[in-house]
Amino acid sequence: MKKVTKLDTFRVISEGVGRFNVQGKTFLIPEMNRIGSHLLAGVFNGFGINSKVMETYEGLDLGKEFTSGKECFPCVVTLGDILLFMKKERERLGNGFNPENYMYFMPESDGPCRFGMYNKYHRIVLDSFPGLDRVKIATLSSEDAYALDGLIPKEQMQDFRKAAYLSMVVGDILDRLLWRIRPYEREEGTTDKFIDDAMGLMTESFSKHSSEKNLSGIFNDLVVIVEEGKEIIDPNIPQKPLIGVVGEIYVRSHLKSNQDTIRTLEKYGAEAINASIAEWVNYTTYDQVRLAKIALKLNLKRFRLKEIKESLLKYLKYNLTLFYQYMQQRKVYRIVRNYINIEEDHKIGHLEKVLKKNNTFSFEVGTEACLSISSALEYGRRGYNGVVNIFPFTCMPSNITSSIAKPLMAKLNIPYIDISYDGSFQPGREAAIRTFMYQAYQHFKIQGRP
Ligand code: SF4
Repeated sequence: MKKVTKLDTFRVISEGVGRFNVQGKTFLIPEMNRIGSHLLAGVFNGFGINSKVMETYEGLDLGKEFTSGKECFPCVVTLGDILLFMKKERERLGNGFNPENYMYFMPESDGPCRFGMYNKYHRIVLDSFPGLDRVKIATLSSEDAYALDGLIPKEQMQDFRKAAYLSMVVGDILDRLLWRIRPYEREEGTTDKFIDDAMGLMTESFSKHSSEKNLSGIFNDLVVIVEEGKEIIDPNIPQKPLIGVVGEIYVRSHLKSNQDTIRTLEKYGAEAINASIAEWVNYTTYDQVRLAKIALKLNLKRFRLKEIKESLLKYLKYNLTLFYQYMQQRKVYRIVRNYINIEEDHKIGHLEKVLKKNNTFSFEVGTEACLSISSALEYGRRGYNGVVNIFPFTCMPSNITSSIAKPLMAKLNIPYIDISYDGSFQPGREAAIRTFMYQAYQHFKIQGRP
């Protein structure tokens, strides 16, 4: 038997995880934020790529079976999703099952935390099942602001990126619509049904219009939905305490992993707003601009001509991308806010200023901690009645957030709670949320809300 060396393992990982052409494959998307994941699948379908959002959380036992307990919780959940999907496909198709027909999507992030390792670990586990070494893992990285090179044909790349970014913003908007309407609905359950239907309609809209040069068909469909959603609100229900949610992107957005925390907050009288998904993508682009600027200054100082040109081009490219993203995001929010007052998103440059003001934290450290700490401070400054930090148990950036944001919130007299998840059900969790909401309500009675 051939001895498997470390070098072999690295080769297998680098060959089986990367940017592969998705044409002709079924592109498998793990569900993170439910709506955004489905809209993204709509975009892929719109460009002729058969795409599917995998059933989620049902494979958690499988995920746990093939991890040691030390991995981040999102890594376990997503591993369970892909293993269960493959198991069911094998059972469904029998001899017709061909692993090569699938491509599994698992993006990554550089920096000090472990998100960059999920896809490598998933590769190792998939390779241990007969035939699943032939399922390629497609990845995109925050290192180049999730550029699509190699995944999508060059001639479609720009249009695809525009539609994909729009799907993310529209996903955020539908989530915000849900959180804005549900606490004030006339009849219990109406909003959930409405948002489910809206997700289906907008997924179809993205499938139909994504590859068109003009994306106005998507905007028109969104307006119809927002107009309808507004009518669900009972104007006689008085305003409720406003709660801002920050934390680790996967668990705070994945309803089953966070045991639907926002619904529990609402049960105890809150109107809550979670941080958006576009915030993370804007942050990765912003960070590339920031790094290119530092490199440019350094190269100018050393008068290295070739490097000056390279960093200048990089700086311009990412600045242009960021400008486009902000413009598109502002446009969608402006259209929707003509009908209903949902919260706008923070600008990343503003969040960096918030941190710099009192030297609270630095973008140099990276990770989501810089977004969560600054957003918590911003919620506090704006007069929110409480802040919730949702994260996977043992998550490094979220524990940093907790250690910095918690004392700051205490200083500002803003109720604050950390809620960590690892798949277990803790009997005291709901009681802690209820107590937090009691404090938030006292804050609301005295200070009002923004
Ligand atoms: S952000 Fe937290 S959960 Fe995500 S990879 Fe980093 S340490 Fe793990």
